[in-house]
Amino acid sequence: MHRWLLLALAGCSPSLAEQPLPLGVEDVVVGLGGSATAPPTCAIQVQGTLEAANYRGQPSSPSLEDTRAAWTAEEQGFAMAEDHGSTFLRCRYKVQVEGFSWRYDLTKDTTFEDVDPAWCETQAAHAEAVDQIVSSTRGCRDLHHGAYWGFDLVPLERFRVAVTLDDIPWNAGPPAEGAAKATDRLLAAMTERRVPATGFVNCGRGEEAIWQQWRAAGFELGNHQADHDNLNKTPQERWLAGVQSCNEALAKGAPVRFFRYPYLRNGDSEALRDTTRAALLGMGLTIARVSVDNHEWKLADLYAKALAAGDADRAEDIARAYALHVLDATRHFRRLGRAQEGREIDHVLLLHANTLAADHLGWLLDALRADGADFIPLEQALKDPIYAKPDRFVGTGGVSWLYHTDPSGFHADNWDDAAWARLAARFGG
Ligand SMILES: [Zn+2]
Repeated sequence: MHRWLLLALAGCSPSLAEQPLPLGVEDVVVGLGGSATAPPTCAIQVQGTLEAANYRGQPSSPSLEDTRAAWTAEEQGFAMAEDHGSTFLRCRYKVQVEGFSWRYDLTKDTTFEDVDPAWCETQAAHAEAVDQIVSSTRGCRDLHHGAYWGFDLVPLERFRVAVTLDDIPWNAGPPAEGAAKATDRLLAAMTERRVPATGFVNCGRGEEAIWQQWRAAGFELGNHQADHDNLNKTPQERWLAGVQSCNEALAKGAPVRFFRYPYLRNGDSEALRDTTRAALLGMGLTIARVSVDNHEWKLADLYAKALAAGDADRAEDIARAYALHVLDATRHFRRLGRAQEGREIDHVLLLHANTLAADHLGWLLDALRADGADFIPLEQALKDPIYAKPDRFVGTGGVSWLYHTDPSGFHADNWDDAAWARLAARFGG
């Protein structure tokens, strides 16, 4: 570990240093390229110095101050003892990490002497910053790993994303506490953070009281086909009848605007794809495309099984991997959207109404915000022109809309499979 991290750790009581981090501490520390679970590269570049100044006191950042506010009196006292007497040089940089711009503070303990702030511009200082970022992000695997100690990457570029949750009433098995209680917790994670979201219902599964919980909390519901039938494996007429019946059931409570394809599968031939789409539009539905597809639903299944087996440690590991995985997926599709459109597009994130979300969605939403996310309604996100582009994808898989607008991306990088291979190697499944 780098000496500046050690310095910061030394300012924490031992019990604090042993506490789990807010995000993604994994069992094994992996060096760059040293393991199948590590990304192949950690791309870091110092792009410029935003500020350089000497100051007296403790290294500080908004995230450290938030953390400190939660410390016990004893921990506060311990930190206070560290606060006096030292002089620091803070180099505040603009850095490029994993393709995005961030603000990052390198804090150098100069021990009672002011140092020429021009030091921040030197090669040595840049090398120290890169070294520290590698350390505090665990080789770019967890960009906010250092936040707990005030070594966070603060996003200089924000993006807009709409949150959607499929498979209402419940995905991946009924929760032990019952779907009603779990739904309350899931909805609270979003209402407490003022995150707008849209839920998608499989009406054939019933449990209309759960639909009412969503609507009573102010969330709009869309149609996810009555029985979650795969369009590619169901006679079209029957499949569309399942859309129509779900529309009718949902419309008793509120108008239905949005439709989400089960499994994101929208036809394995051009004819099936195009005639089905025309039929949906004919019903007055707006197709709710997904840009940030991911494997959260598979992790949710493993999570539910770990809980059922009473393995709380494994469930916790899966929950941390879930937050990191969705962050990775979001960054991947942001990069792809930029490459395709030459700008930051508005995203639609696919999640599910499951126990993993009931337990940890708040954590994930906070992490997304720390990564630059501003949450917007689905209606707003779908106004991005990318969602009106022609569908060029014909295949059996259910994939991101960005692979529909430009299938070459799907065939070229295959991020989805590689990401799941890393998770499966770790958790099985
Ligand atoms: Zn679904």
